Order: sequence, then C-alpha cells, then structure tokens
Amino acid sequence: MTAVTGEPSFRQSVDLMFNRAAALMSLPPGLEEKIRVCNATYTVRFGVRLRGEIHTFTGYRSVHSEHTEPVKGGIRYAPSVNQDEVEALAALMTYKCALVEAPFGGSKGGLCIDPRQWTEEELEKITRRFAYELIKRDLIHPAQNVPAPDMGTTEREMAVIADQYARMNTADINARACVTGKPIHAGGIQGRVEATGRGVQYALQEFFRHPEDVARAKLSGTLDGKRVVVQGLGNVGYHAALFLSTEDGCKITHVIERDGAIENPDGLDIAALRDWIVQHGGVKDCPLGTYHADGARVLEAECDILIPAALEGVINMHNAAAIKAPLIIEAANGPVTAGADDILRHKGTVIIPDLYANAGGVTVSYFEWVKNLSHIRFGRMQRRQEEARHQLIVDELERISRDSSINWTLSPGFKQKYLRGAGELELVRSGLDDTMRAAYQSMREVWWGREDVTDLRTAGFLVSIDRVARAYTAKGI
Ligand code: NAD
Repeated sequence: MTAVTGEPSFRQSVDLMFNRAAALMSLPPGLEEKIRVCNATYTVRFGVRLRGEIHTFTGYRSVHSEHTEPVKGGIRYAPSVNQDEVEALAALMTYKCALVEAPFGGSKGGLCIDPRQWTEEELEKITRRFAYELIKRDLIHPAQNVPAPDMGTTEREMAVIADQYARMNTADINARACVTGKPIHAGGIQGRVEATGRGVQYALQEFFRHPEDVARAKLSGTLDGKRVVVQGLGNVGYHAALFLSTEDGCKITHVIERDGAIENPDGLDIAALRDWIVQHGGVKDCPLGTYHADGARVLEAECDILIPAALEGVINMHNAAAIKAPLIIEAANGPVTAGADDILRHKGTVIIPDLYANAGGVTVSYFEWVKNLSHIRFGRMQRRQEEARHQLIVDELERISRDSSINWTLSPGFKQKYLRGAGELELVRSGLDDTMRAAYQSMREVWWGREDVTDLRTAGFLVSIDRVARAYTAKGI
C-alpha cells in the first residue's frame, strides 16, 4: 500500500498506537522506549541463477523484542516489502504474542518479490537461498527465531525452510520446530492453514456473546444475518468469510480483491468465489454477483461488519470518515492507520484490533511448535482412552434403560457424538477458541474497567505492554 500524504508510515502508526497506551501507564523510566524500539533488523541481498541470469533479491528479518525467546513472526513475499513494514509487523508480533500468552518475542521477515512472477521450482530455489542466509545467522532457529507464513507465502515455502534448516543442522532433533505453518507430512499441525481465519470467527463469536459490547457498536442480536464486507480472499479472508457464512449465518455481501469487488446482497457463495478467483485470477466477470471496478470504494459500503483481510493502510485519513461499518475487525495487520483510528474512534466505530483479531495464526503456530518439540501428535495418548470411558457411560445408560420400567432412549446422534474422542483438529480448535476468549476477556476488563480507555486497541496494548514490561523487569532490565 503506498503511503497516503500526511499519513505516518506503518511503523510510526504502530508506535503512535503504542504511545497512546503507554501514556496511560506508569512504566519505570526508559522501559517504555526499550519496549517500543525494534532490537535489530537484518537486511540481506542474495543472488539466485534463474532463467539464464543471476537475479538479486532483497530480504529482511527483523527482531523487535527478545523479552521471551524464541521470537516469532511470519515471512511475507510481496514487491512492496521494506524495512519500515517489516519492523512494524515485528512490533505487532510482540504485542500479539503477549496478548494471547504465546511465549514468544516479536519478529517478522519479508522478501521483495512478486511470487506470481515465478514458477514453483524457481520459488523453491529463491526460498532455499533466503532461508540459508537467515539460518546461518540464527535468524531461523527452533530456540531463537521461528518464522511462519504471511502474505504471499504458504505451507509450501515453510516446508522448504524446514528442509533447508534440517540439511544445515543434521543432528538437531528439534529441527522441525524451526518454522511453523508446515504441511502435515512435514511436521505441521491440523488446523494451522485455517487458524487465522478461524481465530477471526472466534473473536467475533466472543464479541457477540456480550450484548453490551455489541451495543457499543450500535448493533444488536447475534452474528446471524449480519452483512459483512471482506477485503482480500486469501488465506485469512477466505477462511474467515467461509466460516462466518457457513457456520454463523453471516451474509458476505461484498468481497474486494486486487482487480475490483463483487457484490451480492443475498450473500456470496465463498467457496465458489474462491474457486473462480483461483481459476481466473480475480473477481472480474464472476457470475456470482455484480462487479465494481473501484474496489477501494467498496470499503465504504453499507454493512454491519467490515473485515479488512488483505494489507495495511487501506483505511486511512482519506477514507476513514466515509466508512459506514459500525464494527471493523482487523484480520490483516495494520489495515487502519493511526490517523484513521482517531477519526473512527471519534465517530464511535468499534474496532477489534489486529493484535487480537488475527492472533489465531500465531496461537496455532505455538501449538505446532510444542508438537514438534514433544515429537507427538496431540490426542495420540488420550483419544481411545477417552472413547473407552465414554463407552462405559453409554453402556451403563443403555443397561439402565433396558432394566427400567420407564421407556426412554438416547437422543439420535448422541451416542456417536459423545463416543468420539478428540483428535488433533478438535483439540487445536478448542485451544484456539479458549485462547481467543481469554484474550478478549483481558482486553474487555480494561475497556470497561477504566474510564480513560475508550477503545479495544488501547485496551489490548495496555494488557500487552504490561506483560512485556513484567518480563523485562523479571530479567532485571
Ligand atoms: P494472502 O497472500 O493469502 O492473501 C492476501 C489476499 O489479499 C489475496 O487474495 C490478494 O489477492 C488480496 N489483495 C492483495 N492486495 C489487495 C488489494 N489492494 N485490495 C484487495 N485485495 C488485495 O495473505 P494472508 O496470509 O491471507 O494475509 C493477509 C493479511 O493477514 C496480512 O496483513 C497478513 O500480515 C495478515 N496475517 C496473516 C496471517 C496468516 O496466518 N497467514 C496471520 C496473521 C496475520
């Protein structure tokens, strides 16, 4: 996203949001600055021979805070990647991990590349070389720095990174824990691909469990029937839109993509739309709805919930006043600039902030890292034992029903549902749901409990900064 005139950069925007919260705290002298600044950013330029010539690529890995190690954060592939962006994203990772109590410091990486311009084999060569440069400096390491997917990268790149690390560290038994978001066959975990979008769904479900919070957004009722606008039908946007429409009764009335937007007031068929985008590269000419060439304007459409799930800075000082959604959930990182945040806050728009809303990804990455370090799939020891204990109860109930004079039976489907022990996917979803509920509660306590805090973002920052400050203090810093 190109900078809008008069708007702070992405990193400055994150710092301004941090400063708003820090001003309400009484941190020991100097600690505020220590937490805010980015510890280090490594820039690497490396060459790869492709298509008969050497191409030079520029990549970054930024470490924002090492109050807890390893540090964690995705690797982004996009032509617009730059140091300011990577540092902003690394800072957000620090606050995000603290908010959801994932035991990591904050980091982020990026490569200036348009992945759509290269074939799969070429991308593998480029990723391998980038990973090599980072691994040899311990900027990818199971105990020090653990990347994950982000915009433009998928489990395919994570598998290459894991393989490159294993080749360079043949005796490291924990090699697989050097990166998360891997495919299942390469040490990944069930539910990681959907995790960030699933987390957005759980965040909204938790928000709608509190009618007084919903009322602050001038909304009422449940998620059922709510009109939703989604920007970006990539990993995060697709899963959030799919689950909200198929499981919670939301109507996804507009989807905004790179080449424009598509509208259907009755609700778009998200799975079919995604198939169309994969086949045709965009939403233009898609028969599922009406096409609008000016996608950015569609952010201003009438709706109940706006989900920016593409990139940063899309809601800025130029369009903030025109945004009609009373509730925005930041599935992307930094979609609302600090200037826009001011405007929206004064308008009364409720924003569920990125450091909470998209923390589902790092939460399930945490589970994957633990799985890799423990070398055992979640549920493997307990599942059948749990089923056997449930079977005992069902057998007993059936015996009582046979022996008793009252004629009663179990509800249809009960036996099948109750007997099923939780596998890895169920456990991951349960752990994610619990995490999203607990993190919301911690923000909510501050939001409702302090008169000087009027928004969820400041509440989230207050919780996170306090936790990071305590970690530094415990270390004697
Ligand atoms: P992705 O590459 O899978 O998807 C991005 C989508 O946005 C694509 O469909 C792309 O076509 C679309 N897009 C790009 N530019 C656009 C524009 N100008 N207008 C409309 N659409 C546009 O990326 P992702 O992994 O889904 O990440 C999206 C956002 O979520 C990023 O901000 C990322 O940092 C954040 N995030 C991702 C994860 C994760 O687990 N992948 C976790 C936390 C946060």
